[in-house]
Amino acid sequence: SLPLFKELVAPNGLKINQPLGLFINNEFVKSKSGDTLSTFNPTDESEITAVYAADSADVDDAVAAARAAFYSPSWSEINPSQRGQLLYNLADLIEKNTDLLATLDTWDMGKPLSVAKAEDLGESVAVLKYYGGFSDKIHGKTIDVGPSKLVYTLHQPVGVCGQIIPWNYPLVMATWKLGPALATGNTVVLKSAEQTPLSVLYLGKLIKEAGFPPGVVNILSGYGKTAGAAIAGHEGIDKVAFTGSTATAKVIMKAASANLKNITLETGGKSPLIVFDDADLEQAVKWGHSGIMSNMGQVCTATSRILVQDTIYDKFIQEIKVQTEKVSVLGDPFSEATFQGPQVTKQQYERVLSYIEAGKAEGATLVCGGTKHGDKGYFITPTIFSDVKDHYKINQEEVFGPFLAIGKFSTEAEAIKSANCTRYGLGASVFTNNITKAHRIAAKIEAGMVWINSSQDSHYAVPFGCSFDHIPRFSHVGLSNCDYPVFIRILKIARSIIV
Ligand code: ADP
Repeated sequence: SLPLFKELVAPNGLKINQPLGLFINNEFVKSKSGDTLSTFNPTDESEITAVYAADSADVDDAVAAARAAFYSPSWSEINPSQRGQLLYNLADLIEKNTDLLATLDTWDMGKPLSVAKAEDLGESVAVLKYYGGFSDKIHGKTIDVGPSKLVYTLHQPVGVCGQIIPWNYPLVMATWKLGPALATGNTVVLKSAEQTPLSVLYLGKLIKEAGFPPGVVNILSGYGKTAGAAIAGHEGIDKVAFTGSTATAKVIMKAASANLKNITLETGGKSPLIVFDDADLEQAVKWGHSGIMSNMGQVCTATSRILVQDTIYDKFIQEIKVQTEKVSVLGDPFSEATFQGPQVTKQQYERVLSYIEAGKAEGATLVCGGTKHGDKGYFITPTIFSDVKDHYKINQEEVFGPFLAIGKFSTEAEAIKSANCTRYGLGASVFTNNITKAHRIAAKIEAGMVWINSSQDSHYAVPFGCSFDHIPRFSHVGLSNCDYPVFIRILKIARSIIV
C-alpha cells in the first residue's frame, strides 16, 4: 500500500519529502478504507503521486481530534499572545520553505513559479502574521443598563470549524481560512481540493513544527462528494467555511443546516471592468489584461467582462490585443519567462474550450486566442471576444479561464445597467480620471468590492467579497464573498500603477 511519505523530485529538480497521509492529531495516517486519490501535473498530464483520501470515517476521527483539542488546556487555556506566536512561527516556517511550497503549487496546479513565490507565498506569510497580531486584540463590550447590573459581551470561539478550499490558490486559501480561525481559538478540520493536495499536506508538517498542540489543525485530502460532504453535514462541526463554486455552495448550505452550522461561503463572480473615455487608456489596458489573464483566469474576482465607452472602443480593443500578445507568454510554469501556464485540469480546460465555442456560436467577434496550445498539457491561448451583448452566455456565466468578454456602452446609465446584468456581485472596476464620476458609478455597481483605476488590488487587511464583518468575529472564521446582497461596500482606489 501507499507509504506515508515519499521522496518526490519536482520538474525543477527540487527534492521534496512529501507527506501522503491524512494529517490528524499532528500525525500523518492512512485513510481507514485505504482509499487514495491521484494528483496530476497539468503541464504534461503525468501523475505526480497518489495521496490518501478521506471519507466519512476519517472525517469522524479528525473531528474527534479537533473536539478534544478544543477543550484541551494546551489550546483552550493558552494565553492569546502565545496563540498569536504560534501563527508567527507558522508564517516564519512557510517563509523558510518558500521554494518548496511554491514548487508544489506550480507542479500541482500550473501557476508560474515566479508568481507562486512572489504572490502566493508572500500572501500566505503576510496573512498569518496579520491574524497572529489579532490574537491578543479581541475586545468585548460593556453595556450600561443601569446601576444595578453589569452587562458585558464576551467573545469566544465557535468550536470545531470545517474548512473546504478550492484549487486555484491552494496554499493561500488554506492560510486565509486558518489564520482567522486559529487567531480566535477555534480548532480546524480542513479539506484541500482533490486537484491540489500537495502544498496543503506539507503545511501539516509545518503546523506541527510551529508548535500547535495535536488536533488543533487537521488536514484531509479527499473528494467533495465524500470527505467534503461529511464535513458539511457533520454534527460535531460548529461552523463551515467554504470557497468554491456557487453550485457546491448551495449543496453545502443545505447540508450545514443539519445542525444549523454557522457558514461562510465564498463563491463565484463575473466581475465587470468599466472603461470611460476620460480614463488613462494605457493603465486601463494593463489592468484590464492582468485582471482576467493572471492565474490563467482562475480567480473568483477576475474582471472577466470589460465594458468600454463607444468613443474609445476600437482603440481599446486594439491595444488590449497588443498587450495580451506581448505579456501573456504561454509555456512551462517553471520557466521564468512564463506568464500563463496550463488550466488546472482536463475538465476545466474542456470547460473553457466549450465557452469559446459558445462565444463563436452566439455571434461575438473573436479578437485573439480561441484555440488550444501545444499537444501536451491543458494550455489555452488567451482569448478575447468583443461585441459581446449583455444576454450572451459568455457574458452571464463564469468561465474561470483566460477568457475576456468585451462589450460596448455609450452612456453612464448603460454602463451601470450592463455592469449589473448578471446574477453575480463580487468585484468590479471603474476606470475614469473624473473623481466625482468614479465614486458615483462605484456606488451604483452591485458588487462587494469596487476598484477605481485598478483590478484585483486586494490586501489581507481589507475585507474581501461582500462580507458582513471583516474583523475575525468568532462566528466568522472565513473571509467571505458570495452572491448575496451587499452589506459592506469596499472601495479601493489605486495608488499603484502598472509600469
Ligand atoms: P470547482 O468547480 O472550482 O472545483 P467546487 O465547488 O466543486 O469547485 O470545489 C471546491 C471545494 O469543494 C473542493 O474542495 C471540493 O472537493 C469541495 N466539494 C465539492 N463538492 C462538495 C460537496 N458536495 N460537499 C462538500 N464539499 C464539496
